[in-house]
Amino acid sequence: MSDKAHKPATQLVEAGRRKAWTSVAGQPGAVVNPPVWRSSTHLYEDTADLARGRPNADGHFYYGRRGGPTQWALADALTGLEEGADGTELFPSGVAAISGTLLALLTPGDELLFTDNAYEPTRAIAAGMLSRMGITSRSFDPLDPAGFAKMIGPKTKVVMLESPGSLTMEVCDIPALAAIAREQGVISVIDNTWASSLGFAALAHGCDISLMSLTKHVGGHSDLMMGSASAKDPLIGRIRLQAQYMGQVVSPDDAALALRGLRTMDVRLERTSSTALELAKWLKSRDEVSAVLCPMLPGAPGYQLWDRDFTGGCGLFSFILRNGDKAARARFIDTLDLFGIGFSWGGFESLAIPVDPGKIRDFHEWPRGQDRGCGLGVRLAIGLEDTDDLIRDLTRGFSAMGHT
Ligand SMILES: *Cc1c(COP(=O)(O)O)cnc(C)c1O
Repeated sequence: MSDKAHKPATQLVEAGRRKAWTSVAGQPGAVVNPPVWRSSTHLYEDTADLARGRPNADGHFYYGRRGGPTQWALADALTGLEEGADGTELFPSGVAAISGTLLALLTPGDELLFTDNAYEPTRAIAAGMLSRMGITSRSFDPLDPAGFAKMIGPKTKVVMLESPGSLTMEVCDIPALAAIAREQGVISVIDNTWASSLGFAALAHGCDISLMSLTKHVGGHSDLMMGSASAKDPLIGRIRLQAQYMGQVVSPDDAALALRGLRTMDVRLERTSSTALELAKWLKSRDEVSAVLCPMLPGAPGYQLWDRDFTGGCGLFSFILRNGDKAARARFIDTLDLFGIGFSWGGFESLAIPVDPGKIRDFHEWPRGQDRGCGLGVRLAIGLEDTDDLIRDLTRGFSAMGHT
């Protein structure tokens, strides 16, 4: 069982390994890992047992839709890692965790405020599904807590936070934003995928609900999709019910893969963070680059807040090319060998994609202090490759780009 008194590295080893879930042939704790318990039907002793029913909570057999020991072990492990959480609900993807949580909290007539640097599908959920249901939404400047406070009205029920921001990497003053929300009776939800609960203790910093796409750091091997929501009682109960109304389940096979990924998450994050930091420093020294948006880099936008609030980072960051020519950016990315071109991140392999968030943002320039769209962005997801090899690859990319 995970013990919150232990440091994260130790917790990752112990997490979710309750004796009841690692028992085989009547021997408690006989195996290291919770086996993949494939089951839809759970059997009852007799009709009296059936009539008694089972508590609607992890650890109680009922029916496959409420999961089994493999999923419970993963949820338990994630709860243990999120300081202050009473429970965790698993979802089939990170997006399912976002939409499921918002649906659990909002009803027609309510308003959602979301940070302008939110993950793009979060905006799409707000503009599409939620608006159709009569739930209005507005974005706020992620770097302006006072402006956010002014936007809260009687209809505002939920605020959706994210830090660092998807693509643009602004670090928000989450403790300030969450405190404002709490004071006004607004529930704060944070998409904590970038840092994970190892790098940012979301609930301890005042957020009510912490979401993660487990597809990224927890899975860690680009071979599964899953999401999670962790919160205190009774909020986690509301999210759990919503997931059950929607029939959201994750397979025990995927849960076992996620648990396997979780065991090495700390070492993978340490390695990808340190490589990313080296690359960020190197990129900053390059003429081709006008800005490096990596909050772990001293002097970069958001560094001070990151340094104050976070205990870790990851391999995901962006930079802006000085050359404003899209064809040159395409040549740069297309020339890279070690960086795949694809969505997602948090895997063992490096990725690069072009990013132009100016088009989807309502607020301010990117990065701060420069005109919107003044530069073309590239987002890198750093994997476990050797730093020198990655630098050589990026150097080749810059050569192919040509100078302007
Ligand atoms: C990828 C991602 C998600 C969505 O996760 P999926 O598992 O791909 O659905 C949510 N938030 C952020 C910040 C992400 O990067």
